[in-house]
Amino acid sequence: MQYFKRIIDLHKYLSEARANGLTIGFAPTMGALHAGHMSLIHDSKQQNDRTICSIFVNPTQFNDPADLEKYPRTVAEDLDLLYDHACDVVFLPGVAEIYPQEGFHTPELDFEGLTDVMEGAFRPGHFAGVAQVVYRLLNIIRPDRLYMGQKDYQQWTIIHSMLDQLQLPIELVMCTTVREPDGLAMSSRNRRLTPEFREQAPILFESLSACLEAILEGSKDYRHLEKIAKEAILTAGLEPEYFQIADGYTLQVAHPAGLSKRLVICVAAWAGEVRLIDNLYLDL
Ligand code: AMP
Repeated sequence: MQYFKRIIDLHKYLSEARANGLTIGFAPTMGALHAGHMSLIHDSKQQNDRTICSIFVNPTQFNDPADLEKYPRTVAEDLDLLYDHACDVVFLPGVAEIYPQEGFHTPELDFEGLTDVMEGAFRPGHFAGVAQVVYRLLNIIRPDRLYMGQKDYQQWTIIHSMLDQLQLPIELVMCTTVREPDGLAMSSRNRRLTPEFREQAPILFESLSACLEAILEGSKDYRHLEKIAKEAILTAGLEPEYFQIADGYTLQVAHPAGLSKRLVICVAAWAGEVRLIDNLYLDL
């Protein structure tokens, strides 16, 4: 496994790989890696000749400075995990490498409401930061395929829209959410949960699963299902921000009489000081 901190060194590696006709898969991360991230590496290794993982805690996507400060940083363990999973290259840029003083071009994008709802509504500016850093990383790496998790479904949809708007020749692959045995979606933030909240946190997956089940059984009152789910989350001691049954493509509130081809059920909730998100989707 090789690792690079500077773009110039990564570029040397990449031009050699390209000269040899090798395909490149890329998984961007913010570190504090776990089995969920490793599934991205695994999928990329299956479909590409070389796999690159970046670790960069992107300051521009944190709307809350305390969240940025508390974000876990575990680079030594991350490198061990990536080595164990035979990742080919790790890109570990500093902030000045990604955001040089001389600036860089960022295109105008129109996400048509995708960024206004759910995470976008509760974390203003978050997706502008995500789109900015992913665009910058794609420009540096120019991979053939980009690997992102279903865990961040809205993020995936927004990046899909960005690739589409810019007509970038990059295939975006959605990797399924990896969960703990009790259903809790793996997340870098889970390590900050107190033992009590860790015990209660699977309520998110349980309420998503119950909602999905109810829809499959023909339940048509989506707003009522959302209300029951929020109550269950509150009863477990978590503080829900939203629990939304949305159209899986437009991310707007879904209605049973609507024409949605896919539904996505998304939840965000506070477990003490830790904000958790999760989702499930259903193709109709
Ligand atoms: P992060 O480091 O949280 O920015 O996540 C980096 C990538 O890993 C994103 O594409 C996430 O969607 C993905 N990811 C995070 N957690 C999981 C998980 N439990 N299962 C699958 N992918 C995940």
